[in-house]
Amino acid sequence: MSTGLRRFREPAPEVGKPRERCCELCAEPIGERHAHVVDVGSRALMCACHGCHLLFTTEGAAMGRFLAVPDRHLYAPRLALSEGDWEELQIPVRMAFLFHNSALGRTVALYPSPGGATESELPMETWERVLAANPALADVRPDVEALLVDRGRDGFVCHLVPIDACYELVGLVRTRWKGFDGGREAWEAIDSFFADLRRRGRVVGVAGGDRD
Ligand SMILES: [Zn+2]
Ligand SMILES: [Zn+2]
Repeated sequence: MSTGLRRFREPAPEVGKPRERCCELCAEPIGERHAHVVDVGSRALMCACHGCHLLFTTEGAAMGRFLAVPDRHLYAPRLALSEGDWEELQIPVRMAFLFHNSALGRTVALYPSPGGATESELPMETWERVLAANPALADVRPDVEALLVDRGRDGFVCHLVPIDACYELVGLVRTRWKGFDGGREAWEAIDSFFADLRRRGRVVGVAGGDRD
């Protein structure tokens, strides 16, 4: 059985040469910027037109087989995560996506690497501990949203992102990484990816700040 999101079919990032794109549910032509729907059973990420995306926004639509990927961005500049938790995740790089896959009933940590997405199974207790320690992020939705943890010099930051953003970052790393350390081009692309997330994200989880 393939694990996690390796089976997501779409080559990311969706930049570069323009090409004809169609909604994978109704074949309607769509633009380069478009929404996505997750096929929960096969874990495929499907490009969707506005109408189809809207159709699967309602919970329980299509018996839960398809779920619209929401456009919610939260930014927690200070994630409560211990070094011990991070070690438990066994992530060899500075960033990882954590998410829950409801079809498999398990949580997964995925990190970008030059070979594509690499995955490790995330102990359920670790996942629950991270959510309990960070109530502002605790309603992250299974299958369609992920917590992107970035380990900086001063601790951990976290972005709650749509699952398709994971694939954008995985694609950036896969296509631009050079040599052992990635090279300047890759890091510029990664930095601008994170700058965009900071710009879009509503700040949460800061003491005295927004906690909803
Ligand atoms: Zn459609
Ligand atoms: Zn797409």
